[in-house]
Amino acid sequence: MIPPEFDYVAPETLDDALTALRDGGGDAKVLAGGHSLLPLMKLRLAAPSLLVDLRKVPGLRGVQRDDGQWRIGAMTRHADLQGNADLGPVGTAAALVSDQQVRNRGTIGGSLAHGDPASDLPVVLLAAEGVVTVTGAGGTREVAAADLFQDYLTTAIGDDEILTEVRVPGFEGWGSSYLKFNRRAEDWPMVGVVALVKKAGDGSIEDVRVGLSNMGSTPLRATATEAALRGQGPDAIGSAAEEAAEGTEPPGDLNATPEYKQHLARVLTRRALEEAAA
Ligand SMILES: Cc1cc2nc3c(=O)[nH]c(=O)nc-3n(C[C@H](O)[C@H](O)[C@H](O)COP(=O)(O)OP(=O)(O)OC[C@H]3O[C@@H](n4cnc5c(N)ncnc54)[C@H](O)[C@@H]3O)c2cc1C
Repeated sequence: MIPPEFDYVAPETLDDALTALRDGGGDAKVLAGGHSLLPLMKLRLAAPSLLVDLRKVPGLRGVQRDDGQWRIGAMTRHADLQGNADLGPVGTAAALVSDQQVRNRGTIGGSLAHGDPASDLPVVLLAAEGVVTVTGAGGTREVAAADLFQDYLTTAIGDDEILTEVRVPGFEGWGSSYLKFNRRAEDWPMVGVVALVKKAGDGSIEDVRVGLSNMGSTPLRATATEAALRGQGPDAIGSAAEEAAEGTEPPGDLNATPEYKQHLARVLTRRALEEAAA
């Protein structure tokens, strides 16, 4: 459980952090809360030669309202987000990340940059159609959630880039729910489902978004369920939820077979949609 040797720097500006990352080459890694990276290093599944700690870089932590959206700094901890009702499913999902000890250290930027399809926050960003800001030597760019998660633990963030900010919509007019199924309270979800529902004046479902975690190599949208429900009344939720696992090929693991995960996706989608529509 002892990681290989590595160098460590804690720069005090974003520019210095980017320079350190670039000079460190492909073996340098950003360190945020360390709650995904350090376990991988201790297991010797990752062996970066240099860690660039973002802890002292100013302006990367906090939540701000701006032009109808929420801007969340990359170094904002799960604990800073948990239970914040204004943040809709972001606040709900952050509260369900592991236990308080993990939430006190883990960051939203680290969770998104790590790109684990079983994590709680990536799927919320995907369903909310959020955007991240990424800065590197070539400047700053925006990456939509739909383009961010490319494969298992693989994102569109380059080796020499830093995720600085996360933006999600205001959630006014949307009902939301995030449900995860796990065996122990602090575990990653066997399957997690986020639902967002916007109702029209006549009570029908004007727009709907459903995201699934741990159902493939990236977080996924349940597009068949969304299409089946858009424009329908809430009484169509049961049949639409039956389509939630359409097109998914979840890997089996110690906790669940692929078929059981697909069953969970259908059940949790129905429950999450009912909660969001209510
Ligand atoms: C016991 C335990 C239980 C957990 N349970 C859950 C759970 O139930 N649900 C869940 O979602 N998560 C869980 N986690 C993971 C936790 O949420 C992590 O905190 C999170 O996944 C990573 O955030 P971090 O800030 O710790 O990132 P780090 O571990 O510091 O970094 C993770 C990766 O992202 C990169 N990175 C970090 N920040 C940036 C950035 N700003 N720009 C570019 N790259 C960056 C790093 O280089 C590294 O590759 C658990 C962790 C532990 C230890």
